[in-house]
Amino acid sequence: MKEGICPKCDAAEVYSPEDMLLKGGPFGSNSIPVSLTSMAALDNYVCADCGYVESYVADEDKLHEITKKWKRVGSETATES
Ligand SMILES: [Zn+2]
Repeated sequence: MKEGICPKCDAAEVYSPEDMLLKGGPFGSNSIPVSLTSMAALDNYVCADCGYVESYVADEDKLHEITKKWKRVGSETATES
């Protein structure tokens, strides 16, 4: 998706806002909760052909925080918080 090709319909009609103000969205609507006190803003990629949306957390600090606080999918050694 980041390369500009939609993974669902193979269209080269992928759009992403550049330097959008209030990237976190009103009331954090364009973000996901990492913990009770932490939100991670999302970078969204939208296919203008089929409407598919893909979202990425761009903040490396938030990604690191997620590895500490979230359970890794498929991992038997992860501990519940
Ligand atoms: Zn598409």
